[in-house]
Amino acid sequence: MADSLGESAQAGPEVAVRDLGGGVRSVAVPIPDNPLGHTLVYVMDTDRGPVLVDTGWDDPGSWDVLAAGLEACGTGVGEVHGIVVTHHHPDHHGLSGRVREASGAWIAMHAADAAIVRRARETRPERWFTYMAAKLTAAGAPDEHVAPLREGPRRRSAPPGLAPALPDREILPGELLDLPGRRLRAVWTPGHTPGHVCLHLEEEHPSRLPGHGRLFSGDHLLPEITPHIGLYEDPDDATVTDPLGDYLDSLERVGRLAPAEVLPAHQHTFTDAPGRVRELLAHHEDRLAGLLSLLRQPLTPWQLAVRMEWNRPWDQIPYGSRNIAVSEAEAHLRRLVKQGRAEAVPGSEPVTYVAV
Ligand SMILES: [Zn+2]
Ligand SMILES: [Zn+2]
Repeated sequence: MADSLGESAQAGPEVAVRDLGGGVRSVAVPIPDNPLGHTLVYVMDTDRGPVLVDTGWDDPGSWDVLAAGLEACGTGVGEVHGIVVTHHHPDHHGLSGRVREASGAWIAMHAADAAIVRRARETRPERWFTYMAAKLTAAGAPDEHVAPLREGPRRRSAPPGLAPALPDREILPGELLDLPGRRLRAVWTPGHTPGHVCLHLEEEHPSRLPGHGRLFSGDHLLPEITPHIGLYEDPDDATVTDPLGDYLDSLERVGRLAPAEVLPAHQHTFTDAPGRVRELLAHHEDRLAGLLSLLRQPLTPWQLAVRMEWNRPWDQIPYGSRNIAVSEAEAHLRRLVKQGRAEAVPGSEPVTYVAV
């Protein structure tokens, strides 16, 4: 493996590879047509060959960049020994199947996200559209918003990631992964997805920064943006989950690890994880308090989403993003209800919520 790559681009497709020291490199794999820009795929040396943390979006251009990035690291797609997936989203798990085909690598994922992958492969699009239509109606969405879903997949393209790769191995919370020559421990961090994991590299920081090793944080802990926290969507499960509560607990868990450096899946690496955790906890508390003041009058989740602050006015938010916004409003409502700060108005239909 090459010793030093600096931060330079290589020949061929434009490839941004960074050597982070201690046998870890990052490859910035582009996400087409997405403001996030890229997924940072981490390449970790082990005694059996490179192991990847996430793989990137399933697109020919992204594949070329990943393959060229591995070459720039002195290895190749065919050499990959294993793939550790932080969560099932297509910008993380998209290329896992293709890397496995090329190399025979195993794919490891937490069981809760593996269940989502299995269901995505089994659920027919019609079932999905019926489920989404019922959910949005219950949330108080107006008819003109729900109608296109009732018309089903004939009119709208199917949601992405319908045939994601089934993982071969389960990541157990707290376990030391079987990576010869490395100490990588799984930290279960549900919230962004029910089976999201961070991976704690329990080895001294290569530049001896103070703190405990390095943390591959996936989408859980990012330097400048907050991950989407919505409801876990499952047509077969009626459990009343509390994803925002899960997320806030998971944030405290990684803050307590106090890693010397965080290696997130988007943007850039950073230090002071406990400080970033405090910022995010304060941000969500502010947001919950803001929602409570909106809930002085009873509102459906849809009405709440329309009144919440987003990065642009509601009437400029595209169709799909509105669904995500409503899901986020519902996740916040679940949290407020669980904390006893809001409650459902008895007999309301669709159900409205009000501050207590
Ligand atoms: Zn994600
Ligand atoms: Zn992501």
